[in-house]
Amino acid sequence: MRLGTIRLDEGATAAGRLDEDRITLLPYEDVGALLASGPGWRERAEGADGRPVPASGADLAPVTPHPEKILCVGVNYRDHIAEVGAEPPEHPTIFAKYARSLIGPYDDITLPTGSDAVDWEVELGVVIGETVRDVRADRAWDAIAGYTIVNDISMRDWQFRTSQFLQGKTFEASTPVGPYLVTPDEVGHARACVLTCAVDDDVMQKSVTSELVFSAAEIISYISSFITLVPGDLIATGTPGGVGGARKPPVYLAPGQTVTSRIDGLGELVNRCVAPTPAPAGR
Ligand code: ZN
Repeated sequence: MRLGTIRLDEGATAAGRLDEDRITLLPYEDVGALLASGPGWRERAEGADGRPVPASGADLAPVTPHPEKILCVGVNYRDHIAEVGAEPPEHPTIFAKYARSLIGPYDDITLPTGSDAVDWEVELGVVIGETVRDVRADRAWDAIAGYTIVNDISMRDWQFRTSQFLQGKTFEASTPVGPYLVTPDEVGHARACVLTCAVDDDVMQKSVTSELVFSAAEIISYISSFITLVPGDLIATGTPGGVGGARKPPVYLAPGQTVTSRIDGLGELVNRCVAPTPAPAGR
């Protein structure tokens, strides 16, 4: 099953189930609300019979627009660890984003005036489907509602101002998520999916999720040892090699370029980079 959050008129959104070329609207304002409706959400989503809208051209919001938590894992692909010259970590490197940083799968990325180093990071996204605390890794797979694509767009100059990444990782409206939440049964828990990130026609990143140092279940187990994960929480599991900042010389995003982030079985994000709109005169 594939679930998305669709933007309707006048700022409203609805959760929807993708049925081939149509999306059946569900009686929840977004996928997060469906997941938060409690055990049985899968059956309710599968069995719902709502208004259909065409899938092509649907205006998709981030899969879960308002997660309670967005947690990201740094340096979690063996090739990316080699690229940045690091040693494989003993523990996952965890940082956070806020929901205001999220954009839809086809939304523009506005390059902020305050950064000259906007970089790409295609990542497997994990959406939590049940409340878990202190869950063992072998049980944590069951807490996963599904998988999606995240591009953890990073302002490298801001990221490395201090030892803390946060300010370079959570710029307003910069992180595309989607297009759909794909349930684990459809993608074999995304254990061996090829993921790529292209800037225009140039493939910049290509790896496979089997290169992850810490699996989705191990990450969930680790996080749940210090905080409760709840339905709708989003985890970005880390990016493979090929980021712009590690190239010699570094390469960053420019207005007019298009970032295409793909994961086998999950679809793609297509985001155009645009210059910021100048502030109106007199302000
Ligand atoms: Zn990342």
